[in-house]
Amino acid sequence: MSGSMLILSGPSGCGKSSLISKILKKENAYFSISTTTRDIRSGEKNGINYYYVSREEFEKDIQEGNFLEWAEVHNNYYGTSIKPVIKALQENKLVIFDIDVQGHNIIKEKFPLLTTSVFITTPNQKELEKRLLNRNTDTKEDIQNRLKNAKEEMQRANEYEFFIINDDFNKAFSELKKIIEVAKLKKPLKFINDFSSNW
Ligand code: 5GP
Repeated sequence: MSGSMLILSGPSGCGKSSLISKILKKENAYFSISTTTRDIRSGEKNGINYYYVSREEFEKDIQEGNFLEWAEVHNNYYGTSIKPVIKALQENKLVIFDIDVQGHNIIKEKFPLLTTSVFITTPNQKELEKRLLNRNTDTKEDIQNRLKNAKEEMQRANEYEFFIINDDFNKAFSELKKIIEVAKLKKPLKFINDFSSNW
């Protein structure tokens, strides 16, 4: 496998999806489409944003070992399927993940040399709340839940290699582009070991 992995985490509503959409137009990258049990939002499409399944289907996938990682976030399951990620890595692609802090830890542990991690956030809590309200996709209770979760996630931003404050979209995008150039330079352990033995 010679591709690389870019993990983006950060509070729901911080702008990760918009940044990823723009990156995908310019890079030979594969976005890891997660599977979730949460309800589909208006504007989202099954197979584009997520694969939307029931809790029973998700639990069956866990039992069958189909996930590279999975977690329970905001009372719903979210998981990354193994097969498409391995295929994209074999095709030498940059694999982009939009996953939470729990998923980040698992993938970093499994692929330490291939992973580049970025935590993205808004300048402050008020701005996040404003964006969640403007998005108009979640109930009041859901927004409160997401804000609470965001405060907890922020405490773990120091576990990431890079930190982006998404105040100005173009600036955040240009920072992310630079990080991607570094991410693509990472080499898998097997490559380094094989190279060293043949050197
Ligand atoms: P949302 O419901 O706003 O789309 O996502 C909620 C949270 O779940 C976000 O923090 C997002 O990064 C995270 N998430 C999405 N997919 C996955 C996944 O496959 N695994 C993990 N661990 N987290 C995920």
